[in-house]
Order: sequence, then C-alpha cells, then structure tokens
Amino acid sequence: MAKTCIFCGEKPSNKTKEHVIPQWLIELTGNPNREAFLGFIKHHEDGFKDRKYAFDQFTFPACDTCNNKYAELEGNVKPILLKVLNEEPVLTENISTLLDWLDKVRIGLWLGMNQLDKNYANVDPNYHINTRIGQYDRMLIVEKSNSTNSKLNLGGIDTLSFALTPSVFVLIVNNIYITNISFMFLLSRRLGFPYPTNMHLEPDHERVRCTFVKGRERIMSPLLRKPLKEKGTFIFQPMFRGGLIEGLDDDYKTEYVKKHSLDFEQGIGNIFQSNENNLTEYTKGETINLTPHHTHNDRELFVKSAIHVCEWQNWLTQFIPNTDKLTPIQKKFIKSRFSTGVKVNNLLIKHHKSLL
Ligand SMILES: [Zn+2]
Repeated sequence: MAKTCIFCGEKPSNKTKEHVIPQWLIELTGNPNREAFLGFIKHHEDGFKDRKYAFDQFTFPACDTCNNKYAELEGNVKPILLKVLNEEPVLTENISTLLDWLDKVRIGLWLGMNQLDKNYANVDPNYHINTRIGQYDRMLIVEKSNSTNSKLNLGGIDTLSFALTPSVFVLIVNNIYITNISFMFLLSRRLGFPYPTNMHLEPDHERVRCTFVKGRERIMSPLLRKPLKEKGTFIFQPMFRGGLIEGLDDDYKTEYVKKHSLDFEQGIGNIFQSNENNLTEYTKGETINLTPHHTHNDRELFVKSAIHVCEWQNWLTQFIPNTDKLTPIQKKFIKSRFSTGVKVNNLLIKHHKSLL
C-alpha cells in the first residue's frame, strides 16, 4: 500500500506526521515513550509475534494542510474528554464532537493498522478520514472500572473484522472504557427516520446502492435488536450526511427529522441515552453526565470488553449490503472474507471467556 495521507488518501503534499493517538492523550496516561502492545505482527517469519510500538512513534503520513485542518478538532476534544474522565456533565454538542473525534481515531487506526500489517486483509481503502467523519449513525458505550492506574489501551483493532470494516473499537483511558460503534443507518429505521431497503453492492465499482423508504416517525424500543451486555452508559446518535443520502432531501425534510436533530442543516441528529429500557432524548444546549452507575473490577472489565468488542463486530456483519448483484466469484470472495472474520472473532471470544 502506498504511503498516502491518512486524511485525504492522496500523496502527501508538504509531508507531516499525524499521531493516530494524539500526543496529549499519550501524555495524559503515562510516559510518552513507553511501549504499547499493538496486536500481532502478521507477516513475521516465525509466525505471529507481539508488536511492541512506542505510542508516540505510531504516526502516519499526512499533508500539512490536512493535519492543520484537524488540529482544531483535537484542541476541542481534549477538554471534553477530561470532563468525561472527571465525571462531569457535558453538552450534547460536546458529545457530538467527541463522536467526530472517535470517527477520526477509528479510521486513522484502521488505515494505520493496515499499513503496519501490509494490508493482509487485502482491502482497498477507498475512504479516508476526510470522508468518514460524522457520516454514519454512531454509538458510545461508557464503562468504568475500579483501576487507579494511568493507562491507555485499544481494543478490537487487531481483528480481521476490523481490518475489513472499521466499525467498532474500544478506547481505554485510565479507568474509563469507551466502546465506539458506527455503521450506516444502524439506528434510522427504529428511530423513525427514513431508512434504506435492499442495500446491495454493485458488481462494477465498490459502491452501495439502495432504495429509501419514508420514516415511520416513531421511536421503537429497544433501539437495537441486540441484548446489551455492557453495564454502562449507552449513547446513540443518528447522522444523515452520508454519501447515499445525497439527492434525498425530500425524504429528510420533515418536521419529524428536524425535531430530532441537533443541527438539521448539517445532518446531525440528537443525542439519545438509554438506561435499562428507557430512552431519553437530548437536544441543543442540554447536558448529559456520561458517568456510569456501575463500577467494574478492572481485570474483569478488561477481559469482558475484549469479548464484547468481538461480539459487536460479529453482530454488525448482518448489515453488510446484499451481494446478489455480484458475480459468483465476487460473492464467494466477500462471503469467505467476512465469515473468516467472524470465525477468528469466535476463537478470540472463546479464549477470553476462558480467562474469566
Ligand atoms: Zn492530505
């Protein structure tokens, strides 16, 4: 894979280095020169080997202008994350910014890991950070442990599933575990927004096509048809900016969508928080405390989080667009890649369960 700019995917102009994990976060959580465990080296001659990497060396090429463009987001998110760590309430707009930043980190990790792994999953990264921030429905799960140590850890980024579709990862900052999930139209139907049917892949280009259906204009509970095993704070945000939506203004220009938007013009939905079976909606200017009620034992949460991230990655494969229109060879290729991703995750789940 060519060394392209992590933000725009082009050959970097005035090359700079972008820290996938920002320096302020590395400094906040310990010695910046410390070594981190970043999964396994996949192409090592002696088989799988631990990959040790100093966090502050985990950088990737970027254009000077691209890098500067995102410096503002980094600057904005630091005080927000500090509030979350200090268990202080944050504004709904701040949660949206935090989710934008998590999109940036998640896609950066995906591109970065693919470069480190010499693209072993054989994916064509047809999108970069620029085209993926704030595009698709997204979620946060915040959990808390009893740890008093400083630490920074990443979960779920070394799986084949993540290499194929970077939809779920976990960021562990000190005693706070943040699971970030993003997938196109994950929430739209059950939130009453317009939603796609018959999503399918096209044989000639890596594009997704679909037909849109008018929203049902009511919220269905629960929002996701998946048992939520985490004990923590659940946050959901619908987004309607993605490429598939272009030209569908009429479907979205409804009072219902407006009423449930933080910023309708920008395609940013309100923030929803679920607690047991109750869903609370928050809009502009309101504050939310993300601090979970439950405190986990740190070692137990570390293992459980490794299980849950694989379970989320597996669960999301059901939403992968339909392959009916592809050629038999293309179909087989996609099916085998995703089913291998699920199998690898099942092995990881089994291994981690044995540690509990
Ligand atoms: Zn660039």
